Amino acid sequence: MPQKAKLGQNFLADANARRRIVEALGDISATTVAEIGPGKAAITEILAQRAGELVAVELDPELAAALRERFSTQANVRIVEQDILTVDLSALRSGESKLMVVGNLPYYITSDILLHLFRHHEAISRAVVMMQREVAERVAAAPGMRDYGLLSATTQMYAQVERLMTLPPGAFSPPPQVHSSVLRLTFAPRFKELGVEAEGFIAFLRKAFAQKRKTLLNNLRAAGYGVAEIAGAADGAGVSVQARAEAVSLEQMASLYRGLTLSV
Ligand code: SAM
Repeated sequence: MPQKAKLGQNFLADANARRRIVEALGDISATTVAEIGPGKAAITEILAQRAGELVAVELDPELAAALRERFSTQANVRIVEQDILTVDLSALRSGESKLMVVGNLPYYITSDILLHLFRHHEAISRAVVMMQREVAERVAAAPGMRDYGLLSATTQMYAQVERLMTLPPGAFSPPPQVHSSVLRLTFAPRFKELGVEAEGFIAFLRKAFAQKRKTLLNNLRAAGYGVAEIAGAADGAGVSVQARAEAVSLEQMASLYRGLTLSV
C-alpha cells in the first residue's frame, strides 16, 4: 500500500507519542471518540482498547478497507470511509454526552478541519490534534505575539488551547519536512461571556484581520464601516485606531464589535 503524499500520509511511528496523545484525552471509557485520519491505526489501536465508542474517519479507500478488516471483531469500533469535512460530527453524539476528537491531522486541510470542529462545537468537549508546528504556534499565540492572527482569534473564541508536545520529522514514517505539535483544545465558547453572537462576530474577525499590514481602522473601513463610527467604537473599547488587529485582545475586539453593531 504506497503512501499517498497528497493525503498527508505521514504515519506516527513514535510509540510514546501515540500513548501520550490518547492519554491527553483523559478518561474515554464512557465516551464517543471521533478519530480523524486513522491511517494504519497507530493511535486507533490504543483508542479501540480504551474508548466507549470509536468512530474512525478515513478518506483513503485502501486504508479504510484494511482498518475495517483489522477491527471487524471490535464492536465498539466503526470505520467511516469519508472526507472528514463532510462528516456531520453532531450526529455522532449519543444522547446529551459530548464527543471527543483526536487525530494526527492531514496537514493540508488543518485550518478547514479546525473550522469544521468549531461548526460542531456544541457536540464536542475536547480535541487532541497534531498539526504542523508553525500552524500550532499560530493557533496557540496570544494577542501581540508575532504569530497571533485570525486562526488564533477564531480558535480562542471556541476553546482553551494547550500545547502538549512537539515531535521531529523522524517520529513519522515517511518523515515529513516539518516539525509537528500536538494541541489540546478544551471547548469553552466565549461568545456569551463577551456579549456577541457567534456568526456575526466570527465574520467581523475576518474583516478585522483581512489584511495583515493594514491597521484595524483601514481594514474596517475597507469592510464598509465609516471612520467616525470606527473611532467612536474604538474609543469605547479602549483600542487605538492605529492598532493592528493582531495586537487587540478578544475582550477589546468584542467591545469594538458591540460598539459598531449598536451604531448601525
Ligand atoms: N493517524 C495515522 C497516524 O498517526 O499514523 C495517520 C495520520 S496521517 C498524518 C493523516 C491521515 O488522514 C491519513 O491516513 C490520510 O489518508 C487521512 N486523510 C487525508 N485526508 C483526509 C480527509 N479529508 N478525511 C479523512 N481522512 C483523511
